[in-house]
Amino acid sequence: MKKNIINRGNMSKKTAEIKDYFLKYLDKINYKGFFGVANFYSVYNHLIDEQQEKLKKILQDQFNEFEEKGTIISLGICYDLKIIDYINQINESVIDKERWDMYGSEYKHINRLLKDISSEIALKFNGIAIPPTTETPSHEINNFTDYFLKTISHRLVAEFAGIGWRGKNELLITEKYGPALRLTSILMNMPLIQGEKMRRKCGDCRACLDVCKFLNNKHNLKDYRENCRKYILSLCLNSNVCGKCIKACINNRICKNTFINSPNSKII
Ligand code: SF4
Ligand code: SF4
Repeated sequence: MKKNIINRGNMSKKTAEIKDYFLKYLDKINYKGFFGVANFYSVYNHLIDEQQEKLKKILQDQFNEFEEKGTIISLGICYDLKIIDYINQINESVIDKERWDMYGSEYKHINRLLKDISSEIALKFNGIAIPPTTETPSHEINNFTDYFLKTISHRLVAEFAGIGWRGKNELLITEKYGPALRLTSILMNMPLIQGEKMRRKCGDCRACLDVCKFLNNKHNLKDYRENCRKYILSLCLNSNVCGKCIKACINNRICKNTFINSPNSKII
Protein backbone atom coordinates (compact mmCIF):
# COMPACT_ATOMS: atom_id res chain seq x y z
CA MET A 1 0.00 0.00 0.00
CA LYS A 2 2.74 2.39 1.05
CA LYS A 3 4.63 1.53 -2.14
CA ASN A 4 1.61 2.63 -4.24
CA ILE A 5 1.38 5.93 -2.39
CA ILE A 6 5.06 6.58 -2.98
CA ASN A 7 4.70 5.64 -6.64
CA ARG A 8 1.74 7.95 -7.07
CA GLY A 9 3.73 10.72 -5.40
CA ASN A 10 6.59 10.15 -7.81
CA MET A 11 4.18 10.06 -10.74
CA SER A 12 2.63 13.37 -9.70
CA LYS A 13 6.03 14.95 -9.26
CA LYS A 14 7.30 13.79 -12.64
CA THR A 15 4.06 14.78 -14.40
CA ALA A 16 4.19 18.25 -12.81
CA GLU A 17 7.84 18.62 -13.77
CA ILE A 18 7.18 17.84 -17.44
CA LYS A 19 4.05 19.98 -17.54
CA ASP A 20 5.92 22.88 -15.98
CA TYR A 21 8.65 22.54 -18.60
CA PHE A 22 6.01 22.82 -21.34
CA LEU A 23 4.29 25.76 -19.62
CA LYS A 24 7.56 27.66 -19.48
CA TYR A 25 8.03 27.03 -23.19
CA LEU A 26 4.51 28.36 -23.90
CA ASP A 27 5.33 31.47 -21.89
CA LYS A 28 8.53 31.96 -23.85
CA ILE A 29 6.84 31.69 -27.26
CA ASN A 30 3.70 33.50 -26.04
CA TYR A 31 1.19 30.87 -27.16
CA LYS A 32 -1.60 29.09 -25.32
CA GLY A 33 -1.62 25.31 -25.18
CA PHE A 34 -2.73 22.06 -23.63
CA PHE A 35 -0.91 19.31 -21.78
CA GLY A 36 -2.31 15.86 -21.02
CA VAL A 37 -1.27 12.25 -20.51
CA ALA A 38 -2.88 9.15 -22.01
CA ASN A 39 -2.48 5.50 -21.15
CA PHE A 40 -0.26 3.81 -23.75
CA TYR A 41 -2.24 0.58 -23.84
CA SER A 42 -5.63 2.34 -24.32
CA VAL A 43 -4.32 4.41 -27.21
CA TYR A 44 -2.57 1.44 -28.79
CA ASN A 45 -5.76 -0.63 -28.68
CA HIS A 46 -7.74 2.03 -30.53
CA LEU A 47 -5.23 2.75 -33.28
CA ILE A 48 -5.76 1.32 -36.76
CA ASP A 49 -3.65 -1.76 -37.59
CA GLU A 50 -1.08 0.17 -39.62
CA GLN A 51 -0.42 2.56 -36.76
CA GLN A 52 -0.19 -0.23 -34.21
CA GLU A 53 2.53 -1.67 -36.42
CA LYS A 54 4.19 1.71 -36.58
CA LEU A 55 4.32 1.89 -32.77
CA LYS A 56 5.73 -1.63 -32.57
CA LYS A 57 8.39 -0.66 -35.06
CA ILE A 58 9.33 2.46 -33.10
CA LEU A 59 9.49 0.65 -29.76
CA GLN A 60 10.88 -2.72 -30.91
CA ASP A 61 11.93 -4.71 -27.80
CA GLN A 62 10.66 -1.99 -25.45
CA PHE A 63 7.10 -2.64 -26.60
CA ASN A 64 6.15 -5.04 -23.78
CA GLU A 65 7.37 -2.63 -21.14
CA PHE A 66 5.30 0.17 -22.69
CA GLU A 67 2.24 -2.06 -22.76
CA GLU A 68 2.67 -2.62 -19.04
CA LYS A 69 3.46 0.86 -17.73
CA GLY A 70 3.88 3.25 -20.65
CA THR A 71 2.09 6.54 -21.15
CA ILE A 72 1.84 9.04 -24.00
CA ILE A 73 2.09 12.77 -23.42
CA SER A 74 -0.16 14.91 -25.60
CA LEU A 75 0.93 18.48 -26.29
CA GLY A 76 -1.28 21.04 -28.02
CA ILE A 77 -0.42 24.56 -29.16
CA CYS A 78 -3.34 26.85 -30.03
CA TYR A 79 -3.75 29.20 -32.96
CA ASP A 80 -4.38 32.84 -32.37
CA LEU A 81 -8.12 32.80 -33.13
CA LYS A 82 -7.73 35.87 -35.38
CA ILE A 83 -5.80 33.78 -37.90
CA ILE A 84 -8.66 31.29 -38.13
CA ASP A 85 -10.78 34.08 -39.65
CA TYR A 86 -8.39 34.20 -42.63
CA ILE A 87 -9.64 30.80 -43.76
CA ASN A 88 -11.82 31.08 -46.86
CA GLN A 89 -12.32 34.82 -46.34
CA ILE A 90 -14.26 36.52 -49.14
CA ASN A 91 -13.24 40.03 -50.14
CA GLU A 92 -15.31 41.75 -52.83
CA SER A 93 -16.79 38.40 -53.90
CA VAL A 94 -13.35 36.83 -54.31
CA ILE A 95 -11.70 34.30 -51.98
CA ASP A 96 -8.64 35.93 -50.43
CA LYS A 97 -6.06 33.17 -50.98
CA GLU A 98 -3.22 35.30 -49.66
CA ARG A 99 -4.90 35.42 -46.26
CA TRP A 100 -5.84 31.76 -46.44
CA ASP A 101 -2.13 31.05 -46.99
CA MET A 102 -1.34 33.00 -43.81
CA TYR A 103 -3.39 30.41 -41.93
CA GLY A 104 -1.35 27.73 -43.75
CA SER A 105 1.92 29.41 -42.71
CA GLU A 106 0.79 29.49 -39.09
CA TYR A 107 -0.15 25.80 -39.36
CA LYS A 108 3.44 25.07 -40.40
CA HIS A 109 4.88 27.38 -37.75
CA ILE A 110 2.95 25.71 -34.92
CA ASN A 111 4.04 22.32 -36.21
CA ARG A 112 7.65 23.47 -36.01
CA LEU A 113 7.13 24.72 -32.44
CA LEU A 114 5.59 21.38 -31.47
CA LYS A 115 8.41 19.48 -33.09
CA ASP A 116 11.00 21.53 -31.20
CA ILE A 117 9.41 21.27 -27.77
CA SER A 118 8.48 17.59 -28.08
CA SER A 119 12.06 16.73 -29.09
CA GLU A 120 13.38 18.81 -26.19
CA ILE A 121 11.04 17.14 -23.67
CA ALA A 122 11.84 13.69 -25.09
CA LEU A 123 15.55 14.33 -24.70
CA LYS A 124 15.30 15.73 -21.19
CA PHE A 125 12.81 13.18 -19.80
CA ASN A 126 13.84 10.11 -21.76
CA GLY A 127 10.84 9.83 -24.08
CA ILE A 128 10.35 9.32 -27.80
CA ALA A 129 8.82 12.23 -29.71
CA ILE A 130 6.49 11.52 -32.61
CA PRO A 131 6.54 14.52 -34.98
CA PRO A 132 3.30 16.53 -35.39
CA THR A 133 3.15 15.89 -39.16
CA THR A 134 4.60 13.35 -41.51
CA GLU A 135 6.29 16.14 -43.51
CA THR A 136 5.70 14.07 -46.64
CA PRO A 137 5.39 16.27 -49.74
CA SER A 138 1.88 16.04 -51.15
CA HIS A 139 3.16 14.85 -54.56
CA GLU A 140 4.35 11.67 -52.81
CA ILE A 141 0.84 10.94 -51.56
CA ASN A 142 -1.54 9.15 -53.91
CA ASN A 143 -4.26 8.42 -51.41
CA PHE A 144 -4.93 9.60 -47.84
CA THR A 145 -4.20 6.05 -46.65
CA ASP A 146 -0.53 6.68 -47.58
CA TYR A 147 -0.34 8.82 -44.42
CA PHE A 148 -1.34 5.95 -42.15
CA LEU A 149 2.05 4.28 -42.02
CA LYS A 150 3.89 7.49 -41.37
CA THR A 151 2.61 8.55 -37.97
CA ILE A 152 0.04 7.84 -35.26
CA SER A 153 -3.20 9.67 -34.54
CA HIS A 154 -2.31 12.58 -32.26
CA ARG A 155 -6.04 13.27 -31.99
CA LEU A 156 -6.61 9.86 -30.43
CA VAL A 157 -3.83 10.44 -27.90
CA ALA A 158 -5.31 13.84 -26.96
CA GLU A 159 -8.76 12.25 -26.58
CA PHE A 160 -7.44 9.64 -24.15
CA ALA A 161 -5.47 12.35 -22.35
CA GLY A 162 -8.78 14.14 -21.68
CA ILE A 163 -7.87 17.31 -23.57
CA GLY A 164 -11.02 17.26 -25.68
CA TRP A 165 -13.46 15.11 -27.59
CA ARG A 166 -13.74 13.88 -31.16
CA GLY A 167 -16.07 16.32 -32.90
CA LYS A 168 -18.42 15.71 -35.79
CA ASN A 169 -15.66 17.18 -37.98
CA GLU A 170 -13.45 14.28 -36.73
CA LEU A 171 -11.03 16.75 -35.12
CA LEU A 172 -10.15 17.14 -31.46
CA ILE A 173 -12.49 19.72 -29.93
CA THR A 174 -11.47 21.54 -26.77
CA GLU A 175 -13.91 23.51 -24.66
CA LYS A 176 -12.25 26.91 -24.97
CA TYR A 177 -10.38 26.71 -28.25
CA GLY A 178 -12.57 24.31 -30.20
CA PRO A 179 -10.37 22.62 -32.80
CA ALA A 180 -7.99 25.59 -33.17
CA LEU A 181 -4.85 23.79 -32.10
CA ARG A 182 -2.16 21.50 -33.43
CA LEU A 183 -1.07 18.39 -31.57
CA THR A 184 1.90 16.14 -31.05
CA SER A 185 2.73 13.16 -28.83
CA ILE A 186 5.65 11.82 -26.80
CA LEU A 187 5.97 8.14 -25.84
CA MET A 188 7.07 7.76 -22.21
CA ASN A 189 8.36 4.55 -20.69
CA MET A 190 7.00 5.51 -17.25
CA PRO A 191 3.67 5.87 -15.49
CA LEU A 192 2.42 9.46 -15.25
CA ILE A 193 -0.85 10.93 -13.97
CA GLN A 194 -3.36 10.33 -16.75
CA GLY A 195 -6.40 12.28 -17.92
CA GLU A 196 -9.85 10.86 -18.55
CA LYS A 197 -11.53 10.56 -21.92
CA MET A 198 -14.32 13.13 -22.31
CA ARG A 199 -17.76 12.47 -23.72
CA ARG A 200 -18.64 14.22 -26.99
CA LYS A 201 -20.18 17.61 -26.28
CA CYS A 202 -21.21 18.65 -29.81
CA GLY A 203 -24.87 18.14 -28.96
CA ASP A 204 -27.18 19.19 -31.81
CA CYS A 205 -24.57 21.41 -33.41
CA ARG A 206 -23.96 20.85 -37.15
CA ALA A 207 -21.88 23.91 -38.00
CA CYS A 208 -18.95 21.91 -39.41
CA LEU A 209 -21.23 19.57 -41.36
CA ASP A 210 -23.08 22.48 -42.92
CA VAL A 211 -19.89 24.03 -44.23
CA CYS A 212 -18.43 20.90 -45.88
CA LYS A 213 -20.30 18.61 -48.25
CA PHE A 214 -17.81 15.79 -47.64
CA LEU A 215 -18.24 15.85 -43.86
CA ASN A 216 -21.98 16.22 -44.27
CA ASN A 217 -22.06 13.16 -46.50
CA LYS A 218 -19.33 11.18 -44.75
CA HIS A 219 -21.50 8.16 -44.00
CA ASN A 220 -22.31 7.70 -47.70
CA LEU A 221 -18.82 8.28 -49.08
CA LYS A 222 -16.23 5.52 -49.30
CA ASP A 223 -13.93 7.69 -47.18
CA TYR A 224 -14.53 11.42 -46.93
CA ARG A 225 -10.82 11.95 -46.11
CA GLU A 226 -9.87 11.17 -49.69
CA ASN A 227 -12.45 13.71 -50.95
CA CYS A 228 -11.01 16.19 -48.47
CA ARG A 229 -7.44 15.56 -49.69
CA LYS A 230 -8.40 16.06 -53.33
CA TYR A 231 -10.40 19.20 -52.55
CA ILE A 232 -7.43 20.68 -50.71
CA LEU A 233 -5.16 20.02 -53.70
CA SER A 234 -7.72 21.71 -55.96
CA LEU A 235 -7.51 24.88 -53.83
CA CYS A 236 -3.84 25.34 -54.87
CA LEU A 237 -2.90 26.94 -51.57
CA ASN A 238 0.74 26.98 -50.49
CA SER A 239 0.36 24.73 -47.45
CA ASN A 240 -2.24 22.20 -48.58
CA VAL A 241 -4.57 22.82 -45.66
CA CYS A 242 -8.22 23.88 -45.80
CA GLY A 243 -9.56 24.49 -42.28
CA LYS A 244 -13.13 25.50 -43.18
CA CYS A 245 -14.44 22.93 -40.68
CA ILE A 246 -12.19 24.51 -38.03
CA LYS A 247 -13.44 28.01 -38.76
CA ALA A 248 -17.07 26.87 -38.69
CA CYS A 249 -16.53 25.28 -35.30
CA ILE A 250 -14.78 28.35 -33.87
CA ASN A 251 -17.35 30.84 -35.12
CA ASN A 252 -20.61 28.92 -35.17
CA ARG A 253 -20.55 25.98 -32.80
CA ILE A 254 -23.59 26.15 -30.60
CA CYS A 255 -21.75 25.05 -27.46
CA LYS A 256 -19.27 27.95 -27.77
CA ASN A 257 -20.84 30.18 -25.15
CA THR A 258 -21.46 27.29 -22.78
CA PHE A 259 -17.77 26.55 -22.47
CA ILE A 260 -16.00 29.78 -23.05
CA ASN A 261 -16.40 30.85 -19.40
CA SER A 262 -16.45 27.38 -17.89
CA PRO A 263 -14.17 27.08 -14.85
CA ASN A 264 -13.44 23.51 -15.94
CA SER A 265 -12.02 24.47 -19.30
CA LYS A 266 -8.64 22.88 -19.59
CA ILE A 267 -6.67 25.63 -21.25
CA ILE A 268 -3.30 25.84 -19.48
S1 SF4 B 1 -10.56 20.38 -44.21
FE1 SF4 B 1 -12.04 21.33 -45.64
S2 SF4 B 1 -12.56 19.70 -47.08
FE2 SF4 B 1 -11.56 18.73 -45.36
S3 SF4 B 1 -13.20 18.10 -43.99
FE3 SF4 B 1 -12.60 20.16 -43.31
S4 SF4 B 1 -13.90 21.59 -44.43
FE4 SF4 B 1 -14.05 19.60 -45.43
S1 SF4 C 1 -18.88 22.58 -35.30
FE1 SF4 C 1 -20.31 21.77 -33.79
S2 SF4 C 1 -20.69 19.65 -34.45
FE2 SF4 C 1 -18.85 20.33 -35.50
S3 SF4 C 1 -17.20 19.64 -34.19
FE3 SF4 C 1 -17.66 21.76 -33.63
S4 SF4 C 1 -19.09 21.58 -31.90
FE4 SF4 C 1 -19.04 19.59 -32.95
